Amino acid sequence: MPDFLIQIERLTEEPKRLEFDVSGTWWGDRERATQTEMCEVEEPFRFVLSASRVQDEVFIEGAVSGRVGRECSRCVKRYPHPLHDTYRLALSPIKGHESVDPEGKRGLAQNGLCLGEDLEAGLYRGSVVRLDDFFGEVIALAMPIQPLCDDACLGICSHCGENRNGPDEQRSQQSPGTATGCDCKDEKIESPFAVLASLKQDQGGGQGG
Ligand SMILES: [Zn+2]
Ligand SMILES: [Zn+2]
Repeated sequence: MPDFLIQIERLTEEPKRLEFDVSGTWWGDRERATQTEMCEVEEPFRFVLSASRVQDEVFIEGAVSGRVGRECSRCVKRYPHPLHDTYRLALSPIKGHESVDPEGKRGLAQNGLCLGEDLEAGLYRGSVVRLDDFFGEVIALAMPIQPLCDDACLGICSHCGENRNGPDEQRSQQSPGTATGCDCKDEKIESPFAVLASLKQDQGGGQGG
């Protein structure tokens, strides 16, 4: 298992560019260990960051990119989802009197790093900091909550159960949101609000006179 290490003493006020590749295997192991949702990593996560240090304060900022296979939340088709996110992290050395929770203690023992709740600040101890947990959290946060194969995805037909987007080859040639997946007619289902509105109107008309 690779270590994503930062050597504190090597950092200076001049930001230093660092790059780390996080493989799908690494992420898979982590997903199993933390029991998060499994996904296929189609393109390894690449962390490009700049790290600097002013006295004992360490500043890290950068971006992550990658691609994972997800299932569309509307049409359940698997599709490649590009991931891109930015992050910044300010690290201060832990003082003797500072107390941390059990999770922070584990982090300090394992990584020399205790991450704050918001993932933007943390405490470190020693001369080497492992960014494994930080990278893991950044990736987890970048994952889509409601994955969509396309913003205009039409989802599954409620009548026949077919994917309303139609076949991929056809889909790429037509304007987004065109339903070709089945021949079912779009039935206008009256919303409860529309019904209410018309009731109100009727009442208004009756009482108004
Ligand atoms: Zn979809
Ligand atoms: Zn249909």
